[in-house]
Amino acid sequence: MRSKVRIAAALALSAGLGAHAVAQRARGAAPQASMDAAADPVKVLVDRLDLERYKAVIKGLTAFGDRRQGTDRNRAAIDWIEAQLKSYGCGNTERLKYDYQPAPAATRAPAPAIGTAPTNAGGRGAATLAAGGGRPRGVRTPTGVNTDPNAQPDLNLRALNSQPTTPGPREEIYCTKIGVTRPDEMYIVGGHMDGHGWGEAANDDGSGTALVMELARVLSSPDVQTERSLRFILWNNEETGLNGSGAYVDQRRDRQGKEDPPGSGRYPEPKWLGMIQHDMMLFDHGMPRADGTMSKEQRPEADINIEFQVNSKMAAQSQSLAWALEGANEKYATDYPALVGPHMTNTDSTPFMDVVAAISVRENERGTQIGNGWDPQWHQPTDVYASYSDRDFRFGLNAAQTTLAAVAQLAGARLRK
Ligand SMILES: [Zn+2]
Repeated sequence: MRSKVRIAAALALSAGLGAHAVAQRARGAAPQASMDAAADPVKVLVDRLDLERYKAVIKGLTAFGDRRQGTDRNRAAIDWIEAQLKSYGCGNTERLKYDYQPAPAATRAPAPAIGTAPTNAGGRGAATLAAGGGRPRGVRTPTGVNTDPNAQPDLNLRALNSQPTTPGPREEIYCTKIGVTRPDEMYIVGGHMDGHGWGEAANDDGSGTALVMELARVLSSPDVQTERSLRFILWNNEETGLNGSGAYVDQRRDRQGKEDPPGSGRYPEPKWLGMIQHDMMLFDHGMPRADGTMSKEQRPEADINIEFQVNSKMAAQSQSLAWALEGANEKYATDYPALVGPHMTNTDSTPFMDVVAAISVRENERGTQIGNGWDPQWHQPTDVYASYSDRDFRFGLNAAQTTLAAVAQLAGARLRK
């Protein structure tokens, strides 16, 4: 009963946000001739996404190997991302700086032993909940982070990934599209650019990083205006414990909405309206089979998983944001549906979830599905560009269509003639 009330409230709220954006677009289009009335600006923007472009950005990121934090290849990838964002016209690229010192090894919990055989996670007596709070079901295969260089058969890639990480100063890159009427409010669209496991981090999280970059490209086009601001950010140090996004929240939450300098009309940190994280977008081949093998093809019934965290202070607002994306998916995504779930966990939206509406967008549910082995490339040497087919990349493109359509509506995007 309680959850029904909550869902109804969330639907009303997200419908209200949508109507607001539609009204703003209608006002913006009013002086135009009637032939413009038929053109839906959100559809026009979604159509500017393109499978080959999305693939090319992922491919570009894989040139820097696994982009592990605290290495030259990670720093070179940040420089490359910045050059792309500038070439898109996403002005004001900036870097957040922080210092990363790993916890002493002695105080870290030992990694769980990785078995080799599939088990039945949902069997009688399976009381242990997955990360994020969901209940695991069905066949579960072992997961873990590969730390063995020799597990990478590609000698060039092994060499590219060979420089070890060192503690110290870190940077992460973002750029901002300033809103026309509400420059002091923004949605944050993020993905993490660091990876590990001795592969190319093509899916985790080249796929999410490329999605964020493609949205920056489309929405930075000179003919696009938004009422509210949009920030596109590529987190670092996600894989070590969300340190980059945590540093951002620590450094900037108290600066929200402050005009600086006073009277300038400039807001270095617009008030956060929502944070949308993208982490692993390509692979929904279903549950592992009883013998531990996986389907080779993207399953036709694949779905995009939008998760909020039910045990967070901003759960109601986060759920509302999740439904806004679900609605955008229904209307604008070409091939695959989206599903909303309550167990967001283990990604850069987590440090935001008690402060602002925060959701993650993924290929699978993080806790019960990825945690059960649904993505066999996860943190493995096989997470390379060549492991994915066009069906996988198209699935990721559908997530890009979903978030683009949602933020275009939420930020009040319109086309300047
Ligand atoms: Zn990830």
